[in-house]
Amino acid sequence: MRKARGKRQEARGKKVLRDACGRRIDYLRISVIDRCNLRCVYCTPEQGVDLLPRDRILAYEEMLAFSKVAVINGIDKIRLTGGEPLIRRDIIGFVERMAKIPGLKDLSMTTNAILLEELALPLYDAGLHRLNIGIDTLDPGKFKEITRGGDVNQAIKGIEKALEIGFSPVKINVVIMKGVSEDITPFVKFIKDYPIHVRFIEYMPVSNGLKSKFFVPISKVRDQLKNVEGVHKAPAPVGFGPAREYYKVGDSAGTIGFIPAMSEHFCEECSRLRLTADGKLRLCLFSDTEVDILGGLRPKVDDKKLTALLKEAVKLKPAEYSIVKRDGKGRTMSQIGG
Ligand code: SAM
Ligand code: SF4
Repeated sequence: MRKARGKRQEARGKKVLRDACGRRIDYLRISVIDRCNLRCVYCTPEQGVDLLPRDRILAYEEMLAFSKVAVINGIDKIRLTGGEPLIRRDIIGFVERMAKIPGLKDLSMTTNAILLEELALPLYDAGLHRLNIGIDTLDPGKFKEITRGGDVNQAIKGIEKALEIGFSPVKINVVIMKGVSEDITPFVKFIKDYPIHVRFIEYMPVSNGLKSKFFVPISKVRDQLKNVEGVHKAPAPVGFGPAREYYKVGDSAGTIGFIPAMSEHFCEECSRLRLTADGKLRLCLFSDTEVDILGGLRPKVDDKKLTALLKEAVKLKPAEYSIVKRDGKGRTMSQIGG
């Protein structure tokens, strides 16, 4: 269906980005900052990461300039992520300008929701209406442990505020970890009470120093549905990405889905590009190949150069992922943006 839509748009003269395998690339994730107010164990190593000096982080102006070029050339969905996007100063003003980019159909954000209670309303008013929230357990003790100090109740208050204001859809990313988030029961209760779409994501060995001691195959989590009374398959909610199966429990307002990021990877459907906070386009979560776009931004914005760099990057997108052994080098998930 995606292919057909791309072909129709090409026939109508709309620019479409295609990689060397013919996949249509229409989705850009921008990491607006490499810093975070949490330090999740699967994302950031215990000793922390080397943070970018401020002057190496792209200015909002530069992110906007690249986004405009990307949208002219065929990107129509942009997700803002981080680190934690809500800790960057004047994120609201940036969202407002991003939401006005002509031709951008979909603007969303991934956040840990810690600052959402306060920022949900200004974000909504600025033009952001879709949210993904990373929250792996509803248990205060476990949350504190895996985020190294976070308060789950603060995140829940943020989610409640977002729902009250009218964000839709609100999705929750639960990274499956042994002993932390393998049990679906608390989230089954959660979707009964809240119109929330919970997606269990298989743990991905991206960051440095990651221990696969956390890894649990998604089938082990999905199998628990057999014991849940009233569970039934539901159609994919509007605007949904790679989670392939969605379930409701009775007439629950929300759904549960599963993203088998590792065991049933979906490279053939991948439509993503990622821009890091320091201006590098990454073609695959699992590849360290990067295209530096700074040459098209500094000393001044040059749309032609940016277009050429974007097209060069798209052609370098690998056909499928391979796990790189990094020996402590390379970017962590918090630096790439997830
Ligand atoms: N701070 C925000 C958050 O936590 O949602 C946005 C940035 S975070 C890097 C984006 C998402 O990446 C998180 O929601 C989490 O679900 C996902 N993530 C991070 N590390 C992961 C890993 N090792 N495996 C799978 N997903 C991961
Ligand atoms: Fe921060 Fe998100 Fe990484 Fe957790 S997953 S450390 S909240 S960037």
